[in-house]
Amino acid sequence: MTCTLCKTRLEHGYLCPDCTRDTLDRLQGMAYRWKSLEEWLIPGRAGTAQYGGRVRRAEAPLPLTQEALDLRAGGGIVGVLEDWHAAVCDARSIPLPPRPAAIAARVRHAADRLAAHIHFIVLWEQAGQLAREIRALEARVLEVTDPGRDEDEPTALGRCVAELQDGTVCGARLYADMGRPVQCTHCGCPYPPETWLALRHYQPKPARPRQFEAAAA
Ligand SMILES: [Zn+2]
Ligand SMILES: [Zn+2]
Repeated sequence: MTCTLCKTRLEHGYLCPDCTRDTLDRLQGMAYRWKSLEEWLIPGRAGTAQYGGRVRRAEAPLPLTQEALDLRAGGGIVGVLEDWHAAVCDARSIPLPPRPAAIAARVRHAADRLAAHIHFIVLWEQAGQLAREIRALEARVLEVTDPGRDEDEPTALGRCVAELQDGTVCGARLYADMGRPVQCTHCGCPYPPETWLALRHYQPKPARPRQFEAAAA
């Protein structure tokens, strides 16, 4: 069996630990992504740099605003998340919990619920399709909010080292962005460029591949 997303060999399940983690990161960041589209819907606010605030790139082509609108509307981000949440509940024979009224709250609710089902999802034959759609959804948002980004090679800064209220470390992925302040999409912790080196220092040590351990023994 292999991971349905990256084809890594697996003992069981449909998603490898890395793709599971990525999917979780994307789900946890989705409410922020949804919100980040807001400034693309107000034509008058475009193009001016705001000190300390996020800055819309002046060269962004106008038609993308339509895409922002589509993503923010009922069938966009919220539709994809709620469809998958309904499918998971159906597969688990769980009654669908009541939805909040406002779209922003619905996005957060559906993303949170899906994240809470991640252990089921990993072992579910639909896992690959779900993970692919969530990845595509995030890519569509980034295409609007961060059009200069090289899709294949975002500069990874590492994982967020902020401690959450429950005492665990956040761990969401962070990517460098010279166009605007870097902020964790999960916990909101800011990472200005002067912290990037220190951040690298505090990264959790990667697990050593088996063959190296054997060679070292
Ligand atoms: Zn994988
Ligand atoms: Zn964080």
